[in-house]
Amino acid sequence: MSGVVGIFSKKIKHVSQILYYGLYALQHRGQISAGIAVNNNGFVDHFKELGLVHEVFPKETMDRLRGDIAIGHVQYGTSSQRQNTMNAQPLVVGYKKGALALSLDGEIVNFLELRDKLEDRGIIFQSDLHGEVIANLIARYHRDNLEEAVLRALDDIVGSYGLLVMSNEKLIATRDPFGLKPLSLGKMGEDYVLASETCAFDTMGAKFIRVIEPGEVIVIDKDGIKTIQNKPKERNLCLFELIYFARPDSKVDGKSIYLSRIEAGRQLAREAPIDADIVIGAPDSGIVTAIGYAEESKIPYAEGLIKNRYVGRTFIQPTQELREQGVRIKLNPLKENIEGKRVILVDDSIIRGTTITRTVAMLKEAGAKEVHVRIASPPVISSCHLGMDTPSKENLISANKSIDEIKKIIGADSLYFISLENLIKSNGGDNGFCTGCFTGVYPIEPK
Ligand code: SF4
Repeated sequence: MSGVVGIFSKKIKHVSQILYYGLYALQHRGQISAGIAVNNNGFVDHFKELGLVHEVFPKETMDRLRGDIAIGHVQYGTSSQRQNTMNAQPLVVGYKKGALALSLDGEIVNFLELRDKLEDRGIIFQSDLHGEVIANLIARYHRDNLEEAVLRALDDIVGSYGLLVMSNEKLIATRDPFGLKPLSLGKMGEDYVLASETCAFDTMGAKFIRVIEPGEVIVIDKDGIKTIQNKPKERNLCLFELIYFARPDSKVDGKSIYLSRIEAGRQLAREAPIDADIVIGAPDSGIVTAIGYAEESKIPYAEGLIKNRYVGRTFIQPTQELREQGVRIKLNPLKENIEGKRVILVDDSIIRGTTITRTVAMLKEAGAKEVHVRIASPPVISSCHLGMDTPSKENLISANKSIDEIKKIIGADSLYFISLENLIKSNGGDNGFCTGCFTGVYPIEPK
């Protein structure tokens, strides 16, 4: 998982300054590295480094990154491979026809097969980035027309992607045919912007126009914007995006994350009612769902856990040791609200069980009489090969333990996971979602 942002401007000569705020808004989608590439009068300049957006881009770097077209990227990471500047994005490559920059959110499932074929033809790879295969395919297919080369490269790849490709003249954006990854189009005056989530538009001062449709390819250049391909397959937006990753002030595929989470909380309260004194949410994604649960159950919502805002998400910290340390410094219970109370703790998901175990223990240490855990997603029983960095199956607690066993392990007085049916209902009721990590059935099988 990662976040992408792009801008094409006809007038502004320093768009990276605006793009920076978009990247900042998408920081929750990845904290390992950040990067920006710009077209500066036909020369593609870029800077990328390990770290958070504000660490990677001091003022002097931003002053240097001038130009009228720009793309940016924030990278998640759970493997040591990602902790390497070579694997930061945007990927910038030079080839016979000029220079290209790519920002990819997603995973190319046939990456190894394609890389093998390209290596057999003598291509040398410098990173583990799936985008490097795409860049090489584009370079190989590019005769006279960049758009045609991109379309041919897309014909070869299978996977999940929200992809931005920038040349010194154009910005091309596309989304995989299943629509697994989100990508939206916005407008800022006469200029166009693209982002994984619409919250980036708000910080850039842009307005949401529409979603990029699954399988759609758009080109933005000096002549304006046009769709050059529409090849959708059955829509399969990643359900985990809505439950866990997206910010509540974003719209993904036109759906308000805030309203979806409120409704999931209401559904959860109807499915799994329990007598208690307060409802609290696990920051961040559990908060809104907890408000929905409280509204429906008529049990008061209270602040129960205070989050240190400067600690990254535990699930995407690279090692178990760092993850556990992350949990300890991340949350602190508000004793005044917890002591002597029967608490309903609402969280978005249970992955390894690390965070929830520690959280339940903290609440009990703070004097909670009972802790009832309500989870706004079904048990995660299968790993994701479509761009979400979930751990392997042996590390997924729900893949290896029954709900009753998990309840005992995490120390809860009761535990309930929302049904998949009601989760889908709370997200609009259609079936246009990938539910692979809850069912083991994926729109694209692993290679
Ligand atoms: S398997 Fe799960 S995490 Fe992966 S794309 Fe599907 S819903 Fe999202």
